[in-house]
Amino acid sequence: MALRITDIPIPGYEKVVMAVDPKAGFKAIIAVHDTTLGPALGGLRMWPYESEIQALTDVLRLSRGMTYKSALARTGLGGGKSVIFGDPRKDKRPEVFRAMGEFVESLGGRYITAEDVGTSVGDMKWIREKTNWVTGRAREEGGSGDPSPFTAYGVFLGIKAFVEEELGRKSLKGVRVAVQGAGHVGWFLMGRLRDAGCEITVCDVDKAKQDAAVKEFGAKACEPDDVYAADVDVFAPCALGAVVNDSTLPRFKCKVIAGGSNNQLHEPRHGEELKKRGIAYAPDYVINAGGVINVAFELVPGGYDEAASTKKVEGIYDTLKHICRIAKDEDITTAAAADRLAEEILTEGRRKAKPVKAKKKK
Ligand code: NAD
Repeated sequence: MALRITDIPIPGYEKVVMAVDPKAGFKAIIAVHDTTLGPALGGLRMWPYESEIQALTDVLRLSRGMTYKSALARTGLGGGKSVIFGDPRKDKRPEVFRAMGEFVESLGGRYITAEDVGTSVGDMKWIREKTNWVTGRAREEGGSGDPSPFTAYGVFLGIKAFVEEELGRKSLKGVRVAVQGAGHVGWFLMGRLRDAGCEITVCDVDKAKQDAAVKEFGAKACEPDDVYAADVDVFAPCALGAVVNDSTLPRFKCKVIAGGSNNQLHEPRHGEELKKRGIAYAPDYVINAGGVINVAFELVPGGYDEAASTKKVEGIYDTLKHICRIAKDEDITTAAAADRLAEEILTEGRRKAKPVKAKKKK
């Protein structure tokens, strides 16, 4: 294969590279944001980007997010991400993913890939033909399997932490939760919420999934557009990003927003708006880190260990409580508190990585 790799120098990013192989119909970008805490792990997204700038903007934003997510989740990993230009419904071919494997291999382990939006465990098999720097393998192959139950467990514990901190309720019994999206994360989350005695409201644009959730969890159905105004204690977005925006903000009746979706705030100012309205927000990259924590366990010596992974996911509860307290003590948003905590972990990591030598007196 004739892979042409070009460096794209971006301030604040350790390495950003674009690769093309016209014969294979392959074009992709890998962004390594920060490897202070370890190799940069982050999924591979396949998307029909309209321009290189659009793809670059996406991969830069996502890779930076992974640095913060992994720092706070204490996975011992850094942040990176990759994107392939293409439509996952029609452009998936083995040679495209083999080219991606060569591209990942060219970074010599500085970037480790996994599945993400538009890619699957099956695609990772082709990548693995060319590189070992791949996670998200199937359980039968010694991998960590579907990350969703772990993501959902972290979200469940995050809801518990916020209900305790913000609603002053020790138990989840009778707490009313609206779950947006009955997909992978939403489904496993609803199982835990039902077992804890919550009253669940569910919506999904896929009517069959919504109906199945109503049946399985005794949930109340609502129209997808009505979920923002649902009369509940907790809104748990588990479908889309940017659900906290100018049009949804005035409609919320909930006291807590805590769910699995990535990039829930349309813009950072929407975190401030939630605070002004007295709605507590569990920062998305903290509460939804269960999946990356689980995947990271594929990399530990001795191989994947489900019990150890579960224990680490449970740390999300303490991290979120800590974030709540910082936000209250300093009168800042929980999103700002999370960012600052992540930056402190990174600063500490940099200090350890490059110890400052004591200067000799002259
Ligand atoms: P999924 O595709 O399995 O489920 C999403 C569900 O949301 C689908 O059932 C879909 O029909 C539904 N949906 C889409 N638009 C909707 C709308 N407007 N209203 C209501 N429902 C709608 O995805 P998932 O793996 O469950 O991930 C859910 C979210 O969590 C995503 O934002 C994802 O990025 C994030 N996330 C997932 C994981 C994981 O482990 N799967 C980890 C971290 C973050």
